[in-house]
Amino acid sequence: MKAAPFDYIRAESESHALEVLQQHGADAKLVAGGQSLVPMMAMRLARPSVLVDINRLTALKGVENAADAVRMGACTRQRDIEHDQGLRSRLPLVAQALAWVGHIQTRNRGTVGGSLVHADPSAELPLAAGVLAARLHLRSQNGVRVVDAAEFFQGPMFTATAETECLVAIDWPVWKGAHIGSAFDETSIRHGDFAMASAACQLQLDEAGVCRRVVLGFGGVDGTPMVFPELASQLVGHRITAQAAREIAHSASSRCEPGDDIHATASFRRHLAAVLGERVLLKAAENARGASH
Ligand SMILES: Cc1cc2nc3c(=O)[nH]c(=O)nc-3n(C[C@H](O)[C@H](O)[C@H](O)COP(=O)(O)OP(=O)(O)OC[C@H]3O[C@@H](n4cnc5c(N)ncnc54)[C@H](O)[C@@H]3O)c2cc1C
Repeated sequence: MKAAPFDYIRAESESHALEVLQQHGADAKLVAGGQSLVPMMAMRLARPSVLVDINRLTALKGVENAADAVRMGACTRQRDIEHDQGLRSRLPLVAQALAWVGHIQTRNRGTVGGSLVHADPSAELPLAAGVLAARLHLRSQNGVRVVDAAEFFQGPMFTATAETECLVAIDWPVWKGAHIGSAFDETSIRHGDFAMASAACQLQLDEAGVCRRVVLGFGGVDGTPMVFPELASQLVGHRITAQAAREIAHSASSRCEPGDDIHATASFRRHLAAVLGERVLLKAAENARGASH
């Protein structure tokens, strides 16, 4: 199929893009990398009558390092940051998640912000955003508001972004101190396919190997990324043993409500989440033991 007819507007500036969004409301859609929107238009699952191209807005691209967070422009391409050494050391979980996103070709075009706003329940970057408690900066003609990841993802392919808003930047909090480790894992039919289930974890150990802080999250097993801060905090004050990791991951998976589809039943997805959850908890602990910073 081909997309329904639409007008194409190349935004000359951020304010130009916002003006067009304000003018056309629900009829307009921003296009960044086009890796999700264009296939949806071709299948007529999305039928914007105005497409606003924000690819040339350099103000929406790039990475800035602050003491407590990494700020990423929403239009930063996934491939541009994938091998960034600074990102790998300050935000290893984002680098680990990116390795699972689609293919080199899709990451060459796909943007960080596009993936977050598209909010596929199986997508890797939304899960990383949930686990790291990223803060999303949404701008409209009325100004900027900052939304926490926990409130941003509201349902499958549904976020807090209003029709008149553009995601302009994402702040990824950076944890401070030594012995921080993270891990991301998923199961999909082929590498590059959307995950049937995924799991992500970041934690911090003390010098003795005892857990001081931990976050665990799952993707693909509910309508939004699922994060379990209270449940995972039961590990704080203890060593991360295989049994403890298994119990927490199993409890977390039982709180998810996956759907059935042609790729996997709900109960298989829940099982995968439990297995992947145990794996990422143990891997993150191993990485933390090896991390001196
Ligand atoms: C073959 C293939 C495999 C893929 N595999 C995966 C995968 O494994 N994991 C995965 O997560 N994704 C995968 N994807 C999807 C895709 O790579 C990402 O979702 C994509 O990168 C989204 O970013 P984009 O910049 O292309 O967004 P676009 O397609 O341009 O936009 C997506 C949505 O976000 C909105 N949007 C974009 N930018 C903004 C902004 N700054 N502010 C407000 N709204 C905005 C658009 O209006 C649209 O609704 C795959 C895609 C393909 C084609």
